Amino acid sequence: MIDLFYPPLCRLCQAPAKGALCPACLDQIALPDIVSRCRHCFAPLESQALLCPVCVRSPKLSAPSAYLFEPMHAARRMESVLACENEAALRLAAASMLVVLWHRLHWPCPDRILIVPRKSHCRELREVAEEFARMMDLPLAEEFCLRWQSPFVWRIERHCRDLLENQTILLIDWAGSPEHLRQAISELRGAFAKTIHILSVFS
Ligand SMILES: [Zn+2]
Ligand SMILES: [Zn+2]
Repeated sequence: MIDLFYPPLCRLCQAPAKGALCPACLDQIALPDIVSRCRHCFAPLESQALLCPVCVRSPKLSAPSAYLFEPMHAARRMESVLACENEAALRLAAASMLVVLWHRLHWPCPDRILIVPRKSHCRELREVAEEFARMMDLPLAEEFCLRWQSPFVWRIERHCRDLLENQTILLIDWAGSPEHLRQAISELRGAFAKTIHILSVFS
């Protein structure tokens, strides 16, 4: 009855909606089609090739990565809405979408799931990653910290010193800079991780 007087509005664009999101926004944040993506950096491909021209020449990161939300208007709105205190259901939805994406990617099952720390959106990244790890029935490990180097320069370092020999690592990232991701990868390589994959919420 209350919907008759106050029809629910889409969380992203405020258009009338039956659920949390309207059909137009749902369409924009649909899971990416992985078939037409570079197997290494997830860039959209125009040909049947497995890798994009950049990854064929020299990949930006030495570990395969993929992301959930395209850099479109609805995804940008999603970034600010996910940060709102009362949007736990939407963060849960994002975590479930990450699980589906991970399954579709056919990446190996990780031994550890790690968060790539950042200066902003820390709480929402942690909540999404915790839900993701819970759904995967795997531990979310605290491995990295951010260390201040000089004004505006922070570096990612491992605060655990144990070896990761033969371990398969999945990094959960918000929309990290390639520089931070490179630092995280290099810390893990130094600990002899077997494979590293990166799953970002945003591109
Ligand atoms: Zn909408
Ligand atoms: Zn690529």
